Amino acid sequence: MSFIEAKNLVHEYFRRDEDDNVVDVLTAVDNVDLHVEAGQFISILGHNGSGKSTLAKHLNVLLTPSSGSLFIDGKDASDEKNTLKIRQNAGMVFQNPDNQIIASVVEEDVAFGPENIGVPTDEIWERVEKSLKAVGMWDYREHSPNKLSGGQKQRVAIAGVMAMEPKCIVLDEPTAMLDPDGRKEVLDAVHELNKKKGVTIILITHYMEEVVGSDYVFVMDKGSVVMQGTPREIFSDVETLKAHRLDVPQITELAYELKKSGVDLPDGILTRQELLEALRYLDEN
Ligand code: ADP
Ligand code: MG
Repeated sequence: MSFIEAKNLVHEYFRRDEDDNVVDVLTAVDNVDLHVEAGQFISILGHNGSGKSTLAKHLNVLLTPSSGSLFIDGKDASDEKNTLKIRQNAGMVFQNPDNQIIASVVEEDVAFGPENIGVPTDEIWERVEKSLKAVGMWDYREHSPNKLSGGQKQRVAIAGVMAMEPKCIVLDEPTAMLDPDGRKEVLDAVHELNKKKGVTIILITHYMEEVVGSDYVFVMDKGSVVMQGTPREIFSDVETLKAHRLDVPQITELAYELKKSGVDLPDGILTRQELLEALRYLDEN
């Protein structure tokens, strides 16, 4: 069994009138199949309203499936006995760093999570140190989180989740409120955690550029998974991406336009380096 296994997962939101009669049903997650192996770096990409956050909430058992099944680390998410265990194993990082800060000193903020789940005191401080070092925020341990930049706050939030030593971290648009430098800091920190600590990552984003380093990408639209594959496979299909209201990375777009106008380039170019190499190859041959 995969680390995360969703089968025909459906989530419906009901709108009711004053008498509690259902007046409207919105299928926010529509028959989603999802397989994620332990240690993978997965991205979920989709335009606003495509159902990403609803799916993320299922991964943290903040919602229960309307139908279908979800297993995380072999545990059935619809069985209440498993809720706590799954939540401990799948940490969540949200969009707005300001809503995730609890303490007035960085290291205390990071300690809050492990404290809450009953980790012994000595071990808490070991974990705080490890986590803050892993996201490059150790030097700021005695600072006030309020004075940090958005990217730094988000890295503290990630350290806080990491200190609970989850097997998996779900990040729901963690960079949406950050400037380009902050976005890069956060993405680099998340990739480090994945590579060095083997933490399974589910990165939810609507920025195409951010999925480039992933092992596998799921594209959602109107609640369904509409495309899936490696970043290169996904970015090879510029037309379909655009049909789902997504913009491809600038370099991929440029390569795609060049190809359309007759330049013999491979599909799915992801980086500037790859484009330069492909052009140089053409020039030399
Ligand atoms: P995304 O994160 O991709 O923007 P969401 O999962 O937030 O998508 O939303 C998917 C759909 O479900 C949208 O149409 C949204 O309006 C609707 N929705 C989200 N949360 C609720 C809710 N609590 N009650 C009713 N409808 C909701
Ligand atoms: Mg969302």
